[in-house]
Amino acid sequence: MTEVRFLPAYGHSMWRSCQRAAVPTCIDAARRGTVVYYPHGLLSYHYWKKIKLSTEWRDAGFMFGDSGGFSIRTEGAVIDAARVLRWQAAVCTAGCLLDVPTKDQYERPCWAVGLAKTCAHTAHVLPLYEKLLRADTAFRWWGVLHGNFGPQLVGWWNKISAIYPFSEQGEGWAVRPEPTITHYTLAHMLQFLKQRRVRRAHFLAATAIKSAATIAVLSEEVGLEFASFDSASAAIASGNRQIMVPTADGVAWTLLKEKTRTGKTHDDQWRMREYLWNHCACGFCAELRGCYPTIALVTDMAWVVYSFLHNLFIQIRTFNAHGAAIAAGDGHALLRTLLGHEDYFKVMRAFAGKLGQAADAGAPRSLLDFL
Ligand SMILES: [Zn+2]
Repeated sequence: MTEVRFLPAYGHSMWRSCQRAAVPTCIDAARRGTVVYYPHGLLSYHYWKKIKLSTEWRDAGFMFGDSGGFSIRTEGAVIDAARVLRWQAAVCTAGCLLDVPTKDQYERPCWAVGLAKTCAHTAHVLPLYEKLLRADTAFRWWGVLHGNFGPQLVGWWNKISAIYPFSEQGEGWAVRPEPTITHYTLAHMLQFLKQRRVRRAHFLAATAIKSAATIAVLSEEVGLEFASFDSASAAIASGNRQIMVPTADGVAWTLLKEKTRTGKTHDDQWRMREYLWNHCACGFCAELRGCYPTIALVTDMAWVVYSFLHNLFIQIRTFNAHGAAIAAGDGHALLRTLLGHEDYFKVMRAFAGKLGQAADAGAPRSLLDFL
């Protein structure tokens, strides 16, 4: 059975806010053995390189070190590939090579330049990784795949895997379907990985519930031994003053938004806080309520931290529920419930790689419709 792991993408500013608010987080060693302990996640080198980190994270769970390639694209960051690998080996369980994405910071396509620079980084740093292996490091280096489906993706795979195949025990590939991450493109990517006999994969920024369920259910069918995906949704939602409220069946959530103060009733302003304070039975909220004597003493900043930790725990619990359904043999029923009948069959067609299928309405369809 595939080991599926949700990796919360941790931002350093939210992390510092948690520390300043002195509230329990899911990764604290002191939480071991409790329902909220979850020592897994994703850290990005560019943001975490100067922050002193405990090896608790690396040793107790699965901490994935993102190389910072995305920061090159979004911020034009200048990053040294060897420093990335040394940092990853020091604080992470696994981490990916320094990829130069296929678009620049102005969203201009630069696939050939990105691939050439990524090849150069990989070849340059490979001797350092081999030295770490000879020194018995537990760290494992992973490849990264970029490019639109078709010649770009195949070309990228061929060039990078020729430098190093990332196929030894514990090694794998980080992937991000392009140009967009949907449950359809993820299904197609899983088939691509199967054809190349990849055993371990991380799906970058596959944050939607439908995407997560597609990865969890279909990874099993392509023979992955390990599949992970990261999400920053908990922090993004709390930054937008939203909390995740689990559905009755526990396999999804809805977002409850706190209203702004202007022109709204008192109840609207406070319904998010009131829900967390009086109604939420998640593992975190009970503990967090214990940190503050009354709701009135909780500052706005503390509420952002509080709602972040609540959202994180709802995500963890939801994805655990997906895992339980899959283990019980109900994976496809779960996927059909979450995607809806029509989307489920579109995903399965994309997964099968079938082209030129006629839709129910009789209109001509091709796989490209889904990509
Ligand atoms: Zn809660």
